[in-house]
Amino acid sequence: MTILDSLSRLAPLRLDLDETAYSIGDYEGAGTRWCHGCGNSAILTALQKLCAEEQLPPEKTVIVSGIGCASRLPHYMGTYGFHGLHGRALPTAEGVKVRRPDLHVFVSTGDGDCFSIGAAHWIHAIRYNMDMTVMVHDNRIYGLTKKQASPTSPRGLVTSTTPRGVKLDPLNPVAATLGMSNVSFVAQAADWLPSILYDILHRAYLHRGLSFIHILQRCPNYLDDDFDEYIRHPERVVLLTHPQGIEPEDAVARRFPNRIEHDPGDMAHALALARMSDGLPVGILYRDDAVPCYEDLLAPRRLPVASRIAALEHELDRFTVRPDGSRSDRSGEVIPPPARALAG
Ligand code: SF4
Repeated sequence: MTILDSLSRLAPLRLDLDETAYSIGDYEGAGTRWCHGCGNSAILTALQKLCAEEQLPPEKTVIVSGIGCASRLPHYMGTYGFHGLHGRALPTAEGVKVRRPDLHVFVSTGDGDCFSIGAAHWIHAIRYNMDMTVMVHDNRIYGLTKKQASPTSPRGLVTSTTPRGVKLDPLNPVAATLGMSNVSFVAQAADWLPSILYDILHRAYLHRGLSFIHILQRCPNYLDDDFDEYIRHPERVVLLTHPQGIEPEDAVARRFPNRIEHDPGDMAHALALARMSDGLPVGILYRDDAVPCYEDLLAPRRLPVASRIAALEHELDRFTVRPDGSRSDRSGEVIPPPARALAG
């Protein structure tokens, strides 16, 4: 057998120019301007890692935000982004999704942006259940505007807007979200637990519908010891595991002596966990894959080709002005030309 014969038996070598592999670097945008040690950086890293893992085309990925420290995140991604108005991240993201359901939509918002000025949009975004991943960075303070109380600030916290301390108990965002109509995915994560955060974010991305992730996020600039009770005492973190939730590797799970097998389909248990006062549940509290997405309800039914051509011609006819000046009305009825045109 000649060398040429041998070569001809080999599978043909092919250079596939369409094949693209994205690395984490492809999702890096501008250099971050968050404070040193800010928990937002861990959330950004998890998102970039997810995009690389799932090979999301940067030109098909959109990060939408409102206003606040968390809302600077789109600038730091090498994807499309929309840094919007205060409290309006969710309706903006819904607008993107309704017109371009093919895009991967993520929302980066904060406790002030989402739970205060944006609270009405939060309720209705959950109800509309459009396919997007919502990351709420909850640092329990307004950081960008220099330490004002937010809806999740702890009672007694002295801030620039509460010099005698916050008078009310904080809002419970997870319990509140679980109580909303059409809720389909609720999780809780923490920036200082990066591998758990990543597992949750990954599950949230794979879920079809609105995935709501409440992420506890450190703000060393204004609340430097805020989550110390959980950081220094991991036994106070309650790790939720389940085949339908997250299943961290043994080496990670062993760091949490307090672990619970929680079925995310069990709403009553999810609510009980969300309201627990003697620990911090971390994991996927609830998911229901059967809740319809609003964009699917809008999708037009596919018509046969002949019907689509007839409908298109009917539409075009509405704008046709014939040489004699006549035209068609909405029903296709011919309208004669105006008298002046006839006279001319
Ligand atoms: Fe992060 Fe707080 Fe600095 Fe804002 S003020 S960038 S939340 S550390």
